[in-house]
Amino acid sequence: MSQPVYKRILLKLSGEALMGDDSYGINRQTVERIVSEIKEVADLGVEIAIVIGGGNIFRGVAPAAAGMDRATADYMGMLATVMNAMALQDAMRQVGLVSRVQSAITIQQVAEPYIRPKAIQYLEEGKVVVFGAGTGNPFFTTDTAAALRGMEMNANIVLKATKVDGVYTDDPKKNPDAVRYQTITFDEAIAKNLKVMDATALALCRDQNMNICVFSIFKPGALKRVIFGENEGTLVHC
Ligand code: UDP
Repeated sequence: MSQPVYKRILLKLSGEALMGDDSYGINRQTVERIVSEIKEVADLGVEIAIVIGGGNIFRGVAPAAAGMDRATADYMGMLATVMNAMALQDAMRQVGLVSRVQSAITIQQVAEPYIRPKAIQYLEEGKVVVFGAGTGNPFFTTDTAAALRGMEMNANIVLKATKVDGVYTDDPKKNPDAVRYQTITFDEAIAKNLKVMDATALALCRDQNMNICVFSIFKPGALKRVIFGENEGTLVHC
């Protein structure tokens, strides 16, 4: 029987992934479906750390553009990611998946603070660790937090869950001739300005030799296929 090719993963879930077809917030059925995919992989013995976004609730850039102080808006965005982390944790609890939320901003009544060795210990114990509040710093994104935590957790790979099933030569919604890359190097992705992760996250992963797999969380079974190293999504490598 085939074995998972990754022992420990860092899964980046955007806030929008939790939204489903709604225009904002958290869609219960969508979260349950995502959690069932996560559980399937956890049951294989894969250690799972998750960085959750907050775009479904609050994104700092637009309010800042409208005149709000950028740092304040970004802190609000980080708090939004903590709410998503709590929703995800609760959905995991309901299916018997034990998890811990660690926040990069101290907010102790609702989540533990981020402590690296403790997070690693949880992973070793088979608990899912959900990282909230991004990097804890304004002017960053949860993509960068995913790159950072992936490295800190010594994950084998960063899995970027999106709505599209990989990186394409062009926008597949606009161009029917767009082709999905099965693999692509960091340098090529950067040179061609392809949408993988934001530039800071991409540069960090490239410099630290951390591969990224971009795949669709909306495609049933895709996460599991990525874990088994099947031709799913796009592998971005050095
Ligand atoms: N954010 C931040 N620092 C971080 C991570 C996030 O300031 O390290 C803020 C920022 O305002 C961002 C918002 O939190 O717009 C939500 O994060 P992100 O946009 O990355 O979420 P996603 O697009 O993945 O849902």
